[in-house]
Amino acid sequence: MRCLVTGAAGFIGSHLCNELLAQGNEVWGIDNMSEGRHERIKHLFNNRRFKFAICSISEKQILFKAIQQCDIIYHLAAVVGVKHYVEDPVKVMEVNLVYTFDLLEFAWKLNKKVVFASTSEVYGKNNTIPFSETSARVYGPATANRWCYAISKSAAEHLCFGYAQQGLSMVIIRYFNVYGPHADGSAYGGVATRFIIQALTNNPLTVHGDGNQTRCFTYINDIVKGTIDAGSKPEAEGKIFNLGHYHEVSILELAQLILTLSGNKGNIIFQPYEEFYGSYFEDIPRRVPDLTAAERILGYYPRVSLEEGLKKTIAWYRHRLSR
Ligand code: UDP
Repeated sequence: MRCLVTGAAGFIGSHLCNELLAQGNEVWGIDNMSEGRHERIKHLFNNRRFKFAICSISEKQILFKAIQQCDIIYHLAAVVGVKHYVEDPVKVMEVNLVYTFDLLEFAWKLNKKVVFASTSEVYGKNNTIPFSETSARVYGPATANRWCYAISKSAAEHLCFGYAQQGLSMVIIRYFNVYGPHADGSAYGGVATRFIIQALTNNPLTVHGDGNQTRCFTYINDIVKGTIDAGSKPEAEGKIFNLGHYHEVSILELAQLILTLSGNKGNIIFQPYEEFYGSYFEDIPRRVPDLTAAERILGYYPRVSLEEGLKKTIAWYRHRLSR
């Protein structure tokens, strides 16, 4: 298969390219390098089955030609990271929805399959746990910028279904708090990576609010496997799948675990949401997936425990920081 991966130099995109190549596929990656990092894909440049172009999905002609020449599109290019949602909702809607509209239109016209990377954020602050793929999506007011990401991905999911109704072959996957080597450790990145870097650099771990909010952290290898299986199993066609982990952990517990696993005696500080995100912010109190559909149809199971995944990730960042 020739696979097109958008967002190929991103955290998940780069791991996906690795595995698609390892499975014998040809991979064409594109990334505009806004959040993409050369370091994540540089080892692939001497693989003759890998081609990469610095290009935005807004460049319609290039996108069209790339789609024309591929069999399947893994659409991962997006603005991701809660601080981005708060600071730049226009960019979020533009990339995640408007450009995705073009991509889906091209894929539909050219009769190519799309694997659309969506997010557990679409469930919003629904308080009925766990979230199954048919759970309601519950958001706050438009004055809380945070919801623009969920809205952009939700709307793009509707587009996927709309085009599917007209014949597009597609599958949607919703990722739950993915972590692992190469994840973004900046203020725009996910909490697990931020805590690991804080611990390894002997800085206090910054827990937002009271730290009782929960998430289910999922190691990158499980996510990549689930993504490829979603794209390749015929029974998955036209469906949505949660890809996550069962282990629910509070953010405070996560901080304590990372301190222990990194052998750091550092401390934890509680930071008000407003101080980090700006004046008005709404968090998601609990986020837990129902993985029944993914288990039944994809044979998905999160194999890497939180402790094991964190140990691997800590070791990787320790090595990287030492260089
Ligand atoms: N969080 C935190 N400290 C940080 C970064 C994030 O306590 O330095 C919290 C954040 O407020 C949220 C949770 O960790 O409650 C998960 O945040 P993340 O940005 O990883 O993504 P989310 O799951 O909210 O999409």
